[in-house]
Amino acid sequence: MWTTRGELVNIGGWPEATAAKPAPDQFDEVDHLALRPLLRRRSGPLCHKRLQQKGWSHVPGDQPGGSWSGQATVNLKIWSSWGITLWFMTTIVTTTGTGTPIPNPDRAGAGTHVQCGDVRMQFDAGRMTLNRLAQMGTNVSELSAIFLTHYHSDHVVGLTDLLLTHWVMDGQDDWPAVPVVAPNGHTTEFLDRMFSIWDNDLAVRSLHNGRAAEPKALTVGFDVPDTPAEVWASGDVHVFAGQVRHEPVERAVGYRVETPDGVIVVSGDTKVCDEMAQLSQGADIVVYEAMRFDRIMERPPHMRYIMDYHADTREIGRQAKQLEIPTLMLTHLIPAPGNDGEKQSFVNDVREGGYEGEVIVCDDLSSVTLGV
Ligand SMILES: [Zn+2]
Ligand SMILES: [Zn+2]
Repeated sequence: MWTTRGELVNIGGWPEATAAKPAPDQFDEVDHLALRPLLRRRSGPLCHKRLQQKGWSHVPGDQPGGSWSGQATVNLKIWSSWGITLWFMTTIVTTTGTGTPIPNPDRAGAGTHVQCGDVRMQFDAGRMTLNRLAQMGTNVSELSAIFLTHYHSDHVVGLTDLLLTHWVMDGQDDWPAVPVVAPNGHTTEFLDRMFSIWDNDLAVRSLHNGRAAEPKALTVGFDVPDTPAEVWASGDVHVFAGQVRHEPVERAVGYRVETPDGVIVVSGDTKVCDEMAQLSQGADIVVYEAMRFDRIMERPPHMRYIMDYHADTREIGRQAKQLEIPTLMLTHLIPAPGNDGEKQSFVNDVREGGYEGEVIVCDDLSSVTLGV
């Protein structure tokens, strides 16, 4: 998918001769044929209303629909016979993996992808993350940064795959290093050691292709802050980290992503806690790990310890109601629902907690778009 970000001024009033099809040179280095599958015709009044909401002004003129003047950051601009159709920049939140350590053929390991324009952020990388990104049409070279919540294997076992593949596929050796943002401590220690077991593989490949045997990953460690603090930014996208409660895992964090379209929180693994409430203040979407405690209580006592450090669905509902979160995306689902009835049980629990907003019991590649 081609996207761009930037200020556009006065993009209305295209020559009528191009009404049926835009000339390639009007798309600045873009092969418009590649855009065809993405065409969305938001015609006439709908388009105008959207422009007005964005603060654009209408300039009557000779062109059909007149022309519009204003500023916007957009993903895509296309031409329809009524005038310019805009696809304003959006933020797309996609679950790349909704599973847990327990293998499931339909659920990859933990991961959430957030894309805002051409900024693509991957949060955690459990097993099969690379495959899910491929399903999304996202090449590993397009990732702007990877963020780790903690070092449990189900959240990082796919990371080496991502980064080794990044190196193997970088034929011209010109892809920039991928920043891997992680809390200092055991998670950054994992990153320090991550490639060491691949020494022989890297050595033989580099001998063969003449490249340095160094996968390009850039650890960006941060000390876990007492209150959420910014740990990474790109343009007008800002990512904050905040401690969550996943003890005995120390220094586990959740992330808060602020974009022009809204606020997304990725919980990582945590109990429902005050820290999550703080991180989620004013959020539009919380991607929350979810466990049905009722079902875990059916297990023998020695198998209930996982309730110590995960989020009960009813408690999630209570907290989300208090915080007035519009949309919950439930992930890291325990037990993994295998049919609609089991999914509905997650929803029912959250409703029993009092929450009335949107609940999505996610599958892999479930997606919510902000800013449309
Ligand atoms: Zn964990
Ligand atoms: Zn986990």
